[in-house]
Amino acid sequence: MRTPFIAGNWKMNVTDKEALAFVDAVKDRIPSSEEVESAVCAQALSLKGMQEKAGNTDLRIGAQNMHEEDHGAFTGEISAQALTSIGIDLVIIGHSERREMFNETDERVNRKLHAALAHGIMPIVCIGENVDDRDAGRATGVVREQLEQALQGVEAEQVKGCVFAYEPVWAIGTGKSSHPEEAGEMARTIRAYVHEAYGQSAAEAVRIQYGGSVKPENIGDYMADNDIDGALVGGASIKVDSFLALLEAA
Ligand code: PGA
Repeated sequence: MRTPFIAGNWKMNVTDKEALAFVDAVKDRIPSSEEVESAVCAQALSLKGMQEKAGNTDLRIGAQNMHEEDHGAFTGEISAQALTSIGIDLVIIGHSERREMFNETDERVNRKLHAALAHGIMPIVCIGENVDDRDAGRATGVVREQLEQALQGVEAEQVKGCVFAYEPVWAIGTGKSSHPEEAGEMARTIRAYVHEAYGQSAAEAVRIQYGGSVKPENIGDYMADNDIDGALVGGASIKVDSFLALLEAA
């Protein structure tokens, strides 16, 4: 069966010094990756130091974004190759903050996904409706459309290695988490789409996280759903005790 996967998304909230201290504090307390896979996605400048400190422990270090091209005149961007050259093999793609504030379109998300897969980087692909979509009853359609666009040209064998994070935009950083039943329904929508497009073994293999105001007190409600395989956690992943509590509860 699928191994639970809890990933922290630190956004722009943790300095290099804090990031390194975090790894030092948690690295010997991380559960075996056979039980629960755990990761933190940090600002790019901290990845190398964190990766070195994490060493052979089961804590995985990931990036929050990357560029879709291998190299070139893209000032300020980070390539897949630069990530793999320092041992980073996990990246968040298409987070709603990038879609909203950095104009990341579905087409770009698709290109980034192809680049990650080509370089052996495990992608956490974020999808989710905004509040207007939800109020208008369009949530399921929007999520299916984002998924379909993100997966254009991706093969079944590749899909099995993808992680999808269902993150309703209105639940991110608001303290207003999705009802676990609704999150479970959306996870089933995602899995059903993968089944339709890629068949049963791909649908059974993909891991689906819920994200949006997850904390140690509510993570169990999501994990209780058979179709939710983990969480993408912002605010509650930054403090050592809270991060360890999330892993424990998963
Ligand atoms: P949050 O963020 O847990 O702080 O709501 C989740 C995310 O943006 O991935």
